[in-house]
Amino acid sequence: MLSERIKHIGVSPTMKIAAKAIAMRAQGIDVVDFSVGEPDFPTPQFIKDAGKQAIDQNITRYTMNAGTMELRKAIAEYLYKEHGVEYDPAKQILVSNGAKQAIFNVIMALISDGDEVIVPAPYWVSYPEMVRLAGGRPVIVETHEENGFRLTPEQLKQNISASTRAFILCNPSNPTGAAYSQDDLMELAKVLEEEEIFIIADEIYSRLVYDNFRFTSFASISAKLKERTILINGFSKAFSMTGWRIGYLAGPKEIVEAANKIQSHSTSNANSISQFAALQALKGPSYEVGRMVAEFQRRRNYVVQRLRAIPDISVTEPQGAFYVFPNISAYFGKEHKGHYIRNSYGLAYYLLREANVVVVPGAAFGSDQHIRISYSASMEQIEKGMKRMAEALRRLKTPTKIKFVQLNNYRTKVRKKAPLESKINYEQREALIAEAEAHLKFNQYFEWNANINGLIIQLRTNSAHLNDFWIENWYPAQLESDLEPHGVIYAVDGVVGREPHAFYHSESSTGLLFNSDYYGALRSLALTLVADLGERLFDLHTVRGFSGDFQGRGFVLIGPRGTQKTPLFYQLLQDENMALHSNDLLFVRFGGGFAAADVAERKFYLPTQHAEYFPALEALFEKCKCENVITNRVDCEYQNCVNAEQCSMDRGAPYCFMASKTSTAMLDPYWIGGMERHVKRIDLQFLFLLTNDPLAEPLKELDAEQALQLLRRGSSSGAAMPGQGKDQPFYNPYLLPHDELRLKQHQERFLRLLQFVKVVQLNTANQTPARLAERLKEMITG
Ligand code: PMP
Repeated sequence: MLSERIKHIGVSPTMKIAAKAIAMRAQGIDVVDFSVGEPDFPTPQFIKDAGKQAIDQNITRYTMNAGTMELRKAIAEYLYKEHGVEYDPAKQILVSNGAKQAIFNVIMALISDGDEVIVPAPYWVSYPEMVRLAGGRPVIVETHEENGFRLTPEQLKQNISASTRAFILCNPSNPTGAAYSQDDLMELAKVLEEEEIFIIADEIYSRLVYDNFRFTSFASISAKLKERTILINGFSKAFSMTGWRIGYLAGPKEIVEAANKIQSHSTSNANSISQFAALQALKGPSYEVGRMVAEFQRRRNYVVQRLRAIPDISVTEPQGAFYVFPNISAYFGKEHKGHYIRNSYGLAYYLLREANVVVVPGAAFGSDQHIRISYSASMEQIEKGMKRMAEALRRLKTPTKIKFVQLNNYRTKVRKKAPLESKINYEQREALIAEAEAHLKFNQYFEWNANINGLIIQLRTNSAHLNDFWIENWYPAQLESDLEPHGVIYAVDGVVGREPHAFYHSESSTGLLFNSDYYGALRSLALTLVADLGERLFDLHTVRGFSGDFQGRGFVLIGPRGTQKTPLFYQLLQDENMALHSNDLLFVRFGGGFAAADVAERKFYLPTQHAEYFPALEALFEKCKCENVITNRVDCEYQNCVNAEQCSMDRGAPYCFMASKTSTAMLDPYWIGGMERHVKRIDLQFLFLLTNDPLAEPLKELDAEQALQLLRRGSSSGAAMPGQGKDQPFYNPYLLPHDELRLKQHQERFLRLLQFVKVVQLNTANQTPARLAERLKEMITG
């Protein structure tokens, strides 16, 4: 539904946490909020007066897109006076809606698809997301406490590649408070002078520095680099003007011009009233800034001193901004009253519940060992909050009984099925095998014969993970070399220059998978091979669907996505009389007057999201081999999840089974309810064809001809997911796009199956799974 661009962009975690604090306050809880990203001082009176004056003087119209000339001139003067850098106010300065928009404009102006941007971590949360929105790739470089969270020149150098387009330097830093001295900047500059890289210097906290630290603007370091530096600053922090939304950028003409265009087509000029007030802020007295800085320094000293008195916390003294970023990882593995701390989210959640103190988990800034404490709260609040925090941390103890959940989880590089090419000739097959074999070195070679419904399929791979899942998934076949497999699959990873891709050569029953370590891709290829081979050689008939058994009566649910197949199936499974048969593919044989359907898998490769429909699965998945389960809050694919308020990872859960569409677990079907609840063979008697059609009747028995028509078309007559099933005759993605002859054969087998089963079209529109399940059960057992 949404664009690729927005899909993986998260909600700002600080926003979410602030919302929690507000909600708690509304319940009358005395919350101390250390998550604030703005000064707690009011905007100075003379600036507010300027705002009123602007309204009275009708300065309430559009201004020039880049900002009023007066303000741009004042900014240019300020930058020259303060940092010694010269900019032409007409061409080199752009006033934006906050520094945030200025940064966004620059990133949009500079970054093309695939460009890399170096972002030191811990980072301000928006940098990586802005880079992604522009189609670029953030290259996150971790800085270390022992270097005061400053990026070293060596680190910078090591991370520059041919694709590096820009480097974002936040100085002083949100969230660490680290500031770079002139010498530090000169060292970085030496590296940058050698390269063709733009520097986005976010200096929004430039005036908030302590202990007589002398702030140096990066643009002033060298004339050569000034040509490639975009200076960012604004009024939010130094003048307590966050809500007024005025920031700016200064830089090379072409870039400012491009940023100006982007702004002109999105928001136009920044607020005219605010621009007038900002102008007065620059012209007016600066003692208010001085007062604020002195107060922040006092608070910083206090917070650092209190933190140092807490056992096992290490803290780097910040030199700027208004944040402290202590390392709290020594508390991981500790517990109090059932709160078990596993990560920074867990600790933040614990402090919220136990101490009513709101902090931001470091993971949100790319560093899970830390939390961010903002000292932009009154001294009284800070005293109260620090006391509560210290007490709450003291209560955390190493548990005697540890509930140790460590997921057996593998993250794959590739996360979607590889496209399959099945029209290859013999020569192509030979060439592909030669290519694959060149990557199967004797010391990284795995080979295993699987028995997939009686067919022996040999896997030859260099991927330990694929081999591991392959062995888990299937029953083994003999491994002796004198037993020839019916089919062979090569799965080779690390082939330079190839996109993930699968090939299948039917005559020789050979499958090839390149550059995909995602087991779903291998499994699909194997099932395609088995379906094809089984049909050709043994008259095996493959049916795709969920199947089960009620007291000897087998049934299968068939249908495209969007027809509630999965919730309905799990609803049925709630009934203790139902035995699970297959979650995906059935192999049907005829003989003896009935249709016997077998399941080939020893363990089921189940999407972990199925736990939504069958919660008991969660506890089982914890014991399974898993693939791609999300173990890091920021990797969640559903940042805007409806359960955001209940997000288990926000509370410190070590993983979430719901957070990705591609996470799976290899579940032993016998784990669901022992021997009674899983059968390997069913006597197939009912075939339910699901549709989702608000206008059709709920249940309709079909004769063979009608059923075949629906099946052959492979699409739902009603409102199933658009595009789904269009090219899937018999709703079976494992069936190769066949020629007419093969399709006819498949059709004949289906007609044979239809002699043994009752076919019912089941319309799931406007029906709850519970109600549907009742009707199905009545029909099957009645
Ligand atoms: N950069 C950094 C590092 C920040 O912390 C912030 C505000 N949190 C901004 C830019 C944006 O500031 P604004 O848009 O309010 O000017």
